[in-house]
Amino acid sequence: MSTKPIIVMKFGGSSVANIDRIKAVAQRVVNAKTSKTNVAVVVSALGDTTDELEAMAFQIMKEPPDREMDMLMSTGEQISCALLAIAIRALGREAISLTGAQVGIKTTKSHTKARIETIDNKRILKAFDAGQIVIVAGFQGVTEENDITTLGRGGSDLTAVALAKTLKAQVCEIYTDVNGIYTTDPRIETNAKKIKAITFDEMLEMASLGAQVMQARSIEVAKRFNIPIHVRSSFSKEEGTMIIKETDKLENIAVRGVTCNKSEAKITIDAVPDKPGVAAKIFTELATAGISVDTIVQNVSHTKHTDISFTVSKNDLSKAIAIAEKVAKKIQAGAVSSDKNIARVSIVGSGMRSHHGIAAQMFETLAKNKVNINMISTSEISISCIIDQKSTDKAVKALHSAFKLDTLS
Ligand code: ASP
Ligand code: MG
Repeated sequence: MSTKPIIVMKFGGSSVANIDRIKAVAQRVVNAKTSKTNVAVVVSALGDTTDELEAMAFQIMKEPPDREMDMLMSTGEQISCALLAIAIRALGREAISLTGAQVGIKTTKSHTKARIETIDNKRILKAFDAGQIVIVAGFQGVTEENDITTLGRGGSDLTAVALAKTLKAQVCEIYTDVNGIYTTDPRIETNAKKIKAITFDEMLEMASLGAQVMQARSIEVAKRFNIPIHVRSSFSKEEGTMIIKETDKLENIAVRGVTCNKSEAKITIDAVPDKPGVAAKIFTELATAGISVDTIVQNVSHTKHTDISFTVSKNDLSKAIAIAEKVAKKIQAGAVSSDKNIARVSIVGSGMRSHHGIAAQMFETLAKNKVNINMISTSEISISCIIDQKSTDKAVKALHSAFKLDTLS
């Protein structure tokens, strides 16, 4: 069996959005496949195909069955992997396209958000031995019963990282439409700088807090198995950002990036009786309904009653309000209100563990710019403030310059 070093290359939807781009990707893949390497490629669906497929189902019914959604959504990647294999063959090179099932990506049964359990890489290794470049349909797998599953939106990243792990690849390259990970969203702050290297922890935090370059779950897996990731542009040769395990040098910087996220909404329950077990009732009901709650604030009680506010994803808002109203009645609390016009701005950096005064500097910066803070939450390496949505850009820019991210080299 071949023992050549293996490279995993993943191309996102915009990188394979049309035939010209698919041909360009084919050329890039062919250049990477030398006589000394083997290459496995993972592709996303063409452009916005996944969104379009989803929208078609929603035209038929509001909550289409998850199993059928997986059957539908997984077809996007089947198209792109076949087209890329054809484009490589057109260049006179050997290639084979394989679906998740053909590669032996076995997953749990939780349709639309399945987890990978095992990958049987025999088929890929056999193809390598035959001198083929292997193109794998991202985002999909199959259950023990051979039902097709998908791995959650953005799941092709997860396919790539998982393949890199099972194939013991040297590197997992994520090709996208930006040059790498930036200190903040360059569409908001034109002075945003490309980050040369970032730790798994920082990237995981940035991805969960709003940076959209990679799927958060895929970073978790990369971290667990220490798989270095190179995020780079499919349109240029330029080096991108390396996502790696912590290094000493990285620890000197307190704040690595600023993120923002407008996908949450705030729910407030007024006049909640201030006694043990009440919060448990509210959040247990929400958890049972599969709604994840983010930042929670409970005010100090002066009158044996307190207000509780928390944020949920906007997608879950109506469901969460209904539950909050039901529980509020049961525990004899007051009114339930909600606010969609909020945003989360966050600063992220492993250096926060050793630097002091970062939170104070964040709050001062926001205050100086007359941005009111509604809620605050922290982790070991991040601080988030929930603010009024219309102040988002102003807050991001102010924080980006306060933490000197625009002067990074
Ligand atoms: N096509 C899928 C999606 O849009 C998977 C991916 O792009 O990674 O979510
Ligand atoms: Mg995508």
